[in-house]
Amino acid sequence: MRIVLLGAPGAGKGTLCKRLVARYGLLHLSSGDILRRHRAEGTDLGKKAQSFMDSGALVPDQIVVEMMAAAIEETSAADFVLDGFPRTVNQAIELDKRLATSGHSISAVLNLKIADQVVAERMTGRRSCPRCGAVYHIKNLKPKVDGVCDSDGVALIQRPDDSPEVVANRLKTYHEQTEPLVDYYGNNCTVLDIDGGRDPGEVSAAVFEQLDALVGA
Ligand code: AMP
Repeated sequence: MRIVLLGAPGAGKGTLCKRLVARYGLLHLSSGDILRRHRAEGTDLGKKAQSFMDSGALVPDQIVVEMMAAAIEETSAADFVLDGFPRTVNQAIELDKRLATSGHSISAVLNLKIADQVVAERMTGRRSCPRCGAVYHIKNLKPKVDGVCDSDGVALIQRPDDSPEVVANRLKTYHEQTEPLVDYYGNNCTVLDIDGGRDPGEVSAAVFEQLDALVGA
């Protein structure tokens, strides 16, 4: 099963992916995670991506397409879930072309729908531990001591791209550049609309039900 997961930043794509991986044994390929790894390692690609990411803009298509095509090829996995990629119609066209060369195509697209206001609250309240990566929320998932990681006592930080101005920009970018993918995929593949405003257990249950029906069909 080759799945594309669409949804605004903060819609819960990362959490859902973990559950999809556990249930269906898919490989999780997140363009945001791969880009952050490049930045942390100080690669040329990471340096090129930095300013775009920090302002909430998209990294140019060519850079991301090459990076993700290499990631897909490296794994040679038949079953994967793409998280955060493609994010523009051009990226989707390129992805389809490259999959077609090995006789593959996307099996289904999950469209995680959520109101901008909910996303803004989720993202601007998010804090993470710079050492172990644990993620908290100032209202919904508080650490035992304010501002401090439960596991290692390190001061929590806000990801630069979770600041209110950048979140607003990321949402605008999503609506303008990524949402058109719903129509793009609607023309050539199965798109499953999922209400992402519920708690993560309900979201994954709804997704499993739809995917099981699709796989069983
Ligand atoms: P994410 O963690 O998926 O929200 O991605 C963080 C940032 O990485 C985004 O705000 C973009 O700047 C960049 N990024 C991730 N995936 C893509 C993509 N498919 N195309 C362009 N930029 C991307």
